[in-house]
Amino acid sequence: MKITDIKTAQARYSYVRVYTDEGLVGTGECSHCGSGWRKIVEDLKGTFIGKDPLDVDCLFEEARRAHIFRGALAGLFISALTGIEIALWDLAGKAMNVPVYRLLGGKFRDRIRLYVDSAHGGAEDFESYKKTADWVKEQGFTAIKFDLDDGSNPYKLDKWNWSVTPGELETLTERVAMMREAVGSKMDLAVDMHGFYDGYSGLKIACAVEPYNLLWLEEPVPPENIDALLRIKQATQTPLCVGENLYLRYGFRELLEKQAADIIMPDISKCGGLSECRKIANMAEIYYIPMAPHNNSGPLSTLADSHVCASIPNFLALEWHRMGDETWDDVLLTNEPLIQDGYVVLPDTPGLGAELDDDFVQQSSTDTPLFQ
Ligand code: MG
Repeated sequence: MKITDIKTAQARYSYVRVYTDEGLVGTGECSHCGSGWRKIVEDLKGTFIGKDPLDVDCLFEEARRAHIFRGALAGLFISALTGIEIALWDLAGKAMNVPVYRLLGGKFRDRIRLYVDSAHGGAEDFESYKKTADWVKEQGFTAIKFDLDDGSNPYKLDKWNWSVTPGELETLTERVAMMREAVGSKMDLAVDMHGFYDGYSGLKIACAVEPYNLLWLEEPVPPENIDALLRIKQATQTPLCVGENLYLRYGFRELLEKQAADIIMPDISKCGGLSECRKIANMAEIYYIPMAPHNNSGPLSTLADSHVCASIPNFLALEWHRMGDETWDDVLLTNEPLIQDGYVVLPDTPGLGAELDDDFVQQSSTDTPLFQ
């Protein structure tokens, strides 16, 4: 079997489809792609056409190494390549007549625990947190995340300086107390700071929220300086989770070697794909660090991520960011909902296990035809 073409579709989410001379196709989704990603895929096509699509790791590495001078170290280039990688796994699974997790070494679990990113933050009151937490619990989820950073806090110095003031620290701590009361003592609770705060502020906040038994505090400081993060980690009992803006194994090396985080969160459909993230998880495992992948993507990406989450022992929870999205179940052609009782139930069908509903996806795309 040989690859004959690679096409992209831009709708609400970003899709890649790989075509072969035997009529089999594979589809992937890449995340956080700004404009330009489709041109990168177009440029990469020549590296893949005529090759055997089952050599997924080799093709990925060949394309990456051939484009180092053009940015294949991180960022949009890697995200575009990731879309191809995921489509190749879908194709390989179909060609071998097995689910993708089989090709990743088999599964440790049948269903993948999701946590809800409620995107709920800012000046929320207790009732608002409670309403969100109650809905999440009713749906069967066992973990929730709220945003904690607040650019509109009246005690903030200005929009550029993120040194926490006493009034702000008090407000943020009270908010975490409200969140914990709203979700109760048994549910996992994570909070996200989006990397906005400076070193000593991140440290102050991490220490101040210690009584609330967080699953994690996410990105107390920006992602570039691992030593700044390490200083906070060594000074607080609050677990830290980082990594949504790191790429490839190389991006996680220093973080893991210094053990500067308690939990890592690679974005699987952005930072290198299924094979690469399984390797990142394996690197983390030797430091006893679990993985809770970042995921702000669509159903196809969430399904693809789930195959990685099934194939690693140190999986904690996969993010789900689509609370209240009524079209969630329309994107994929499935016999039953992808998410059941707070878990992704992994299909046993070949490849990723579900096809994109092209007709539905077409409705949110100006591409005609959908894949170009
Ligand atoms: Mg985050």
